[in-house]
Amino acid sequence: MVVSGQVAVVTGANRGIGLEVSRQLAERNVHVVLTSRDKTKGQQALNHLLDRSLSVSLFQLDVTNSDAATRLCGHLVKTFGRVDILVNNAAIYLDEGDKLLDIPLETLRNSFDANFFGAYSLCKTLIPVMKKNGYGRVVNVSSGYGAMDAMNARTGAYKLSKLALNGLTQILASELKGTNIKVNAVDPGWVRTEMGGPSATRSPQEAARGIVWAATIDDSGPTGKFFRDTKIISW
Ligand code: NAP
Repeated sequence: MVVSGQVAVVTGANRGIGLEVSRQLAERNVHVVLTSRDKTKGQQALNHLLDRSLSVSLFQLDVTNSDAATRLCGHLVKTFGRVDILVNNAAIYLDEGDKLLDIPLETLRNSFDANFFGAYSLCKTLIPVMKKNGYGRVVNVSSGYGAMDAMNARTGAYKLSKLALNGLTQILASELKGTNIKVNAVDPGWVRTEMGGPSATRSPQEAARGIVWAATIDDSGPTGKFFRDTKIISW
């Protein structure tokens, strides 16, 4: 497939913030590869954006499957010869309000598998392609719950998985200094999605803007930072 501009990958793009990030990126003439662990849901999201004449395609990807991440990388190199933007958006929120010692160990492991190792394995697979092309923007969609000052009682599995994601952001940004690859984390705020629920204060459109901003920052922009609405926030 010949695309004239940049190519982005968005995980968990079939609904919520991921779908809206995909739409906003595609509106900026970026070809967006929507990834979804469920093919049917992914196809519905894809159709929604194709109806708006946007340049988008679909790849089935469960972020906990590192072989699938390798297959995605092969697909991107073969089809486009590049990947410019990676938005690690997919996540699960399994332990709302629970105490850490009361949850099954599996809940903690599953949270880390999706929210931390999923992002790590995509970085590990796709950043080498970015390095070859001398350009890359990685956005880890984090949460205020991943900040150090949120490390208080309850929802520990989710909080710790996002804390680790924040650490990954800083380590990779530091290891990639001197390249044109920028790695930042963004807290979207409390958003009306399946995860955030109907009482949340922000729309997916508002939340996606800050993520798209970080995904498209110019060469002189920041790396290794944590943002909400384009403003730096504390780790
Ligand atoms: P959402 O509506 O629950 O959507 C989550 C997405 O992640 C879905 O597409 C889901 O796919 C996908 N996903 C989950 N596990 C996956 C896996 N193993 N492989 C691939 N995809 C997977 O959540 P959202 O509110 O849009 O959240 C997006 C991001 O924002 C997350 O990183 C979340 O932690 C962060 N965030 C959200 C809020 C909020 O208030 N909503 C606040 C702070 C941070 P399925 O449809 O197949 O389940």
